[in-house]
Amino acid sequence: MHLELPALPYAKDALEPHLSARTLDFHYEKHHRGYITKLKQAVEGTPAAQQGLTELIETAAGDVFNHAAQVWNHTFYWRSMTPGRTQPGGELKRAIERDFGSLADLKHLLAEVAAGEFGSGWAWLVKNRGDHLAVLSTHDADNPLRHGQTPLLTIDVWEHAYYLDYQNDRARYLEGVIDHLLNWEFAEHNLQETVRAVAEAHA
Ligand code: MN
Repeated sequence: MHLELPALPYAKDALEPHLSARTLDFHYEKHHRGYITKLKQAVEGTPAAQQGLTELIETAAGDVFNHAAQVWNHTFYWRSMTPGRTQPGGELKRAIERDFGSLADLKHLLAEVAAGEFGSGWAWLVKNRGDHLAVLSTHDADNPLRHGQTPLLTIDVWEHAYYLDYQNDRARYLEGVIDHLLNWEFAEHNLQETVRAVAEAHA
């Protein structure tokens, strides 16, 4: 397992004005890097050090699971956003219309579910076992891979993701991310390639 911090896919100020460079600096350099450091410490000298990050998420427990999942979730979160103003196309667009009615309906549901996650967690667009799309939230470090679902996009709803820019106003953070930053090309890629992006970043 290659446990270095993967580079951000854009400059730290690229998501302004919706997320500031200061937020990305703290979130990436302190939080994401911190989970990498803690995971390294937790697996050192154990069989888990030989396992892949995704394998750890599917099988590990306790601290190893928590740190591995937080590493994975953050690597996936950075890629779930882009300054590039993407739109869902092709297979993803058809699946959204089939399962939610419209992109606007999906965005509304995502905002509602993300706002409703009590405390710290993550909101996700996933493909479930029946190949249908669903929106859900997970608590703390939990990840849909643990439950047999394929993540397509995620939004970090831990307070550290938005506090510097929005204080406790999670709804305004969500509006900025959902309306301006979500990377629908990444979601479409994940629908077809089953989340290889994170595995490749940590290969
Ligand atoms: Mn975070």
